[in-house]
Amino acid sequence: MPYQQIINDTYHQIKSGKDEGEAASYIPELAKVDPENFGIHLITIDQQEFGIGDRYTQFSIQSIAKVLSLSLAFKLWGSKIWERVGVEPSGTAFNSLVQLELNKGIPRNPFNNGGALVIADMLVGEFKNPEAEFLRFIREINNDNKIDYNLSIAKSEKSVGYRNIAICNFIKSFGNVLNEPERVLDFYFTMCSLEMTCQELAQTFLFLADDHFRNTKGERILNMSKAKRVNALLQTCGFYDESGEFSFTVGLPGKSGVGGGIIAVFPDKYSIAVWSPKLNAKGNSYRGMKFLEAYTTKTESSIF
Ligand code: GLN
Repeated sequence: MPYQQIINDTYHQIKSGKDEGEAASYIPELAKVDPENFGIHLITIDQQEFGIGDRYTQFSIQSIAKVLSLSLAFKLWGSKIWERVGVEPSGTAFNSLVQLELNKGIPRNPFNNGGALVIADMLVGEFKNPEAEFLRFIREINNDNKIDYNLSIAKSEKSVGYRNIAICNFIKSFGNVLNEPERVLDFYFTMCSLEMTCQELAQTFLFLADDHFRNTKGERILNMSKAKRVNALLQTCGFYDESGEFSFTVGLPGKSGVGGGIIAVFPDKYSIAVWSPKLNAKGNSYRGMKFLEAYTTKTESSIF
């Protein structure tokens, strides 16, 4: 497959088209990012790399980090985690509270904020220093000690985190957050502040494409059955109430973040990261989705 050629053509096609939406500004620090950034990086399971644009600039990966916290929790506790968080698409926004009342504090899936807060609570309960352990887990996956949190983004989000504070306390009222909400929220805001380039993001997610992937200690991150399940959740829940649209137009498991990043995985082939900060009405990167739709159309390949 001439990946580089197709990436170049698609990049120029999308860049010359319109760029709708707004970069996230509800987290004040995120509003400072240049909305014109646009980068793509693809890594195949045999470590060939292709890309274009602002792919070596770090950005806030935000909700994409939820996939990594889920992977760590799933690796540690296996299917026990599904007693506290569901595996169903929500059909609602990432920060919605509506279903939590009906479902008695059991979030629909691990990728909306409620679900990610429950997973964060599990990690806070397990580790003395969950921030350090989570970072270590990620650095061991991609052999890169430069990957880090951006604490001014975490602080900025905390300063206006009213909705997440409400969600966490609401779940606590049902008994599905075991630790102090303030501690769980601190970890959640910090993990969402992780920064990566498109290149680092694609490298980090290769473990979901490559059954033989091993971290720097020679360990597998998830066995085949677990990786299959995480990919299934990406497919059905990775884009909140636009998960159907992403499946329909792109046809790959993927996850978005309000920093404008998208990671998509083609099992047994590659991972691809796209970054463009302007978000559509559902909080997903406008150009990121358009790029991946055009790219999978041109390559005539998707998981379907
Ligand atoms: N930290 C963000 C929040 O909780 C993550 C949301 C997102 O990336 N969709 O609002």
